[in-house]
Amino acid sequence: MTTDRIDLDGAAGEGGGQILRSALALSLVTGRPFRLERVRAGRRKPGLLRQHLAAVHAATAVGHATVTGAVLGSQELVFTPAGCHGGDFAFAVGGAGSATLVLQTVLPALLCADRPSRVTVEGGTHNPWAPPFDFVAKAYLPALARVGATVTATLDRRGYFPAGGGRLVATIEPVTAWRPLALLERGPILARRARILLANLPGGIAASEEGVLRKLLPVDLWPVEHERETDGRGPGNVILLEAEAEHVTEVFSAFGELDVRAGTVAQDAVDELRAWLASDAPVGPHLADQLLLPLALGAGGTFRTSHLTAHTHTNAEVIRRFLPDVAIDLVQDGPAATVTVTRGPRS
Ligand code: AMP
Repeated sequence: MTTDRIDLDGAAGEGGGQILRSALALSLVTGRPFRLERVRAGRRKPGLLRQHLAAVHAATAVGHATVTGAVLGSQELVFTPAGCHGGDFAFAVGGAGSATLVLQTVLPALLCADRPSRVTVEGGTHNPWAPPFDFVAKAYLPALARVGATVTATLDRRGYFPAGGGRLVATIEPVTAWRPLALLERGPILARRARILLANLPGGIAASEEGVLRKLLPVDLWPVEHERETDGRGPGNVILLEAEAEHVTEVFSAFGELDVRAGTVAQDAVDELRAWLASDAPVGPHLADQLLLPLALGAGGTFRTSHLTAHTHTNAEVIRRFLPDVAIDLVQDGPAATVTVTRGPRS
């Protein structure tokens, strides 16, 4: 295993937190240190925010790593891991930074670790610009199960942006045998569900959203469920559209925000769903960028996705830097795209 340091530019491609999280995950698994300059230079508030710092601390704990630049606002980080150690971990993001993104940072390493792990993360579980817990539990982890990963995730309590205060718990078994992924067809859609989550907000918001959903989606196919919390945490509002197909489950979401009309939130969620339905591909745009890492570290595979995003291209680039023997081909084919990850011999 080579320990040459990898130098990365945080402004490259998509220029967000994913470059950092993927670099941490890949560094832990390969043992290769890295230096990241211009951290999140593509974002309005560049540098390490609390959520990114929590990801760095989590990776440091799992990798018994030494790290410089791990402070709020830092735009340069040097990370040197010393192995991949399973165990019982509790991480707190502070505020509403995404707990699911912290989990995803250490998950690949814990799948490759020496023993099983239990990870508790406190923070936001339902944040815009991050995977909502329901997406992780219903779309991401089942896709990982297909390639040999045994991971469970439970939601102790929801935490919405900007208040946070949620908590999730995951158990992770080291993978004994990775399997290649072949996910080219969606198969028929077997179940559909629209869920409106509402915390500490007037019920009229959910009623308006339901009205719009019922206009936009075939009512007989899409039952609408309301889950309302009034226990002091929040405020928060999310629409989740869950489609369970024969070979894949996808979860599309949109987040209510102050000054954004309920109808706009519902329309946004439906637009995401429709783009996926129209393409005929099994894997939605978010799941696509998140599957690259497990495939590159595991046994590779092929999937079709409805849309190749800047996140997917950027993630592929970071993976190529750490794993030069892995080929990642992103090929647009009509309205969809085929992603193929091929593992060569590891140095
Ligand atoms: P970044 O913007 O670089 O911090 O990366 C955000 C990550 O969150 C990417 O992996 C996105 O695919 C993922 N993500 C953002 N929004 C969603 C969503 N609504 N559902 C699932 N994943 C999401």
